Amino acid sequence: MDKRKFLKISGAAAAGIMVSPLMSCGDSSSDGGEVIKGDSAAVPSIITEFKQATLGFDYAALEPHIDAQTMEIHFSKHHAGYVRKLNKALMESPEFEANSIENVLAQVKADQTGIRNNAGGHYNHSLFWECLTPGGSKTPNGKLAEAISSGFGSQEKFEEAFFKAAKTRFGSGWAWLTADKEGKLAISATPNQDNPLMKNIVKEGGTPILGIDVWEHAYYLKYQNMRGDYINAFMDIVNWDTVAAKYALV
Ligand code: MN
Repeated sequence: MDKRKFLKISGAAAAGIMVSPLMSCGDSSSDGGEVIKGDSAAVPSIITEFKQATLGFDYAALEPHIDAQTMEIHFSKHHAGYVRKLNKALMESPEFEANSIENVLAQVKADQTGIRNNAGGHYNHSLFWECLTPGGSKTPNGKLAEAISSGFGSQEKFEEAFFKAAKTRFGSGWAWLTADKEGKLAISATPNQDNPLMKNIVKEGGTPILGIDVWEHAYYLKYQNMRGDYINAFMDIVNWDTVAAKYALV
């Protein structure tokens, strides 16, 4: 696929203030956030208006694995809604240092539900789109392949463990492949829109390099109650080049 176009997905919310792993390879000049200068003491002097980056492929591009209608609703309604509500919540929470989405996630506390749900929703979906490719199945290579092999035994064993984490996540949530600062990989799962960067909330931390959305809105139109079929389909369209690039930045 068009690499530049694909990489634009990762430009979410970069405001030219901080380059994060999620955004570092993206062209953020065209769809990055705007800097808003507040004119009230109650409003932070500089905040980031987070924006949803362009999806690098058509809604139908992931067919038959993920259907076009699901993609359209998921991207243009669900994800867009999280971004809109996140910006609103941050305007009402001037104590947040909102120069990057990662920084917001690192600060949020359990009872700050508006920012918790919507910052998580924005970050999680941005990562999700980045890790998908219409090009079909690929396998990890290089250092990521080595880390998967040493961490889980083999790619097959990793996929079994990841499948199980996603399948058994009760209710709505996400399953993750994360890396720690030493490059050690781990699989975890979180409820709702929580993610491993919420250090005040989530016990199993780390930097997410792959995430699967197991909310029913991610699969129900096509797969109904067959979450396992959806997970298997997802595994066939993971962009392992992107995951490896993220791993290299951890
Ligand atoms: Mn979702």
